Amino acid sequence: MINFSSNDYLGLAGDARIAKAFAEGIEKWGTGSGASHLISGHTAAHHELEESLADFTGRPRALLYSSGYAANVGVINALLSVGDFVFEDRLNHASLLDGGWISRANFQWFPHNDIHSLCSLLQSTEIGTARTLIVSDGTFSMDGDYCDLAALVDTANAHNAWLMIDDAHGFGVVGECGEGLVAANEFGVDDVQVLVGTLGKAFGTAGAFVTGTDDLIETLIQRSRNYIFTTAMPAALAHATKTSLEIVKSENWRRRRIVELVRLFRQGLDGCNVTLLPSISSIQPIVLGAPESALDIANHLEQRGLFVTPIRPPTVPQGSSRLRVTITAAHRESDVTQLVEAIRSAPTV
Ligand SMILES: *Cc1c(COP(=O)(O)O)cnc(C)c1O
Repeated sequence: MINFSSNDYLGLAGDARIAKAFAEGIEKWGTGSGASHLISGHTAAHHELEESLADFTGRPRALLYSSGYAANVGVINALLSVGDFVFEDRLNHASLLDGGWISRANFQWFPHNDIHSLCSLLQSTEIGTARTLIVSDGTFSMDGDYCDLAALVDTANAHNAWLMIDDAHGFGVVGECGEGLVAANEFGVDDVQVLVGTLGKAFGTAGAFVTGTDDLIETLIQRSRNYIFTTAMPAALAHATKTSLEIVKSENWRRRRIVELVRLFRQGLDGCNVTLLPSISSIQPIVLGAPESALDIANHLEQRGLFVTPIRPPTVPQGSSRLRVTITAAHRESDVTQLVEAIRSAPTV
């Protein structure tokens, strides 16, 4: 089947060069790191990857986590506690929402990308001298749209808050070299104090990283329980990810291919009776409403060799069940036209 449901945006999860580096890493370091970073699990491979990621994002330092979920919960929990404040976009990834709740800070969400509401909330909240963190996805995982980064930066500055952006879907895809939404828009560590990226999507491996100032990273090393009390990712994985990072930076054609295929997909469905969200990213959701409608079309596509997982509540709000089509650099034009024709021929379309 042709997979239109993966986050392997650049088509690197099956790349032979990265697989070779992974094998080399296993030869050298074995399959497991054997301990947490602070005990004895941290190797030169981890260290080099952290330095390369800091360099890639144009920020002083980076810290590896075993997954994006662990990073998000671990960072928010390390920075905030009882009496602090966290403001989150309603459509933030579950790990960001969980991090906010687990931190025991006062948690408030604002309607999706509605910075006006965020400002009103900030103005009406008695914050005093408590720490305040505003948290948003860079590219929203279920809608495919970007956050309003400039407005978030201004709002955070105006309210003496820190801004945390999770760019899980932007790294590798957004920017000339895949440097992500924040660097591509020329925002630095003073604008976005906490920046998270994951390695299991465009990088084609697994794990995650946080980047920021030296102080931020030292604080996380001392206080982030999801960093401290967990086994370090295998060194071989870090080694493989270094190769992946080189490919991400240099193979621009992969990003261009996505743009071309997305255009083809959207043009193909033009004039057709489906609701495409206004996304220019790899994530192209078709909102159908009822869960049954999403299941019906997914089955119709499956019979035609096209794999598109229907997304239903609680992953998305009630009434917005959808097909979440993801278009990657590994697709061919003919894959996309096949998908377009199959969607057009669905009984309910
Ligand atoms: C996928 C994703 C995560 C989780 O990353 P994992 O490495 O899969 O745990 C976090 N945030 C966002 C926005 C994501 O899309």
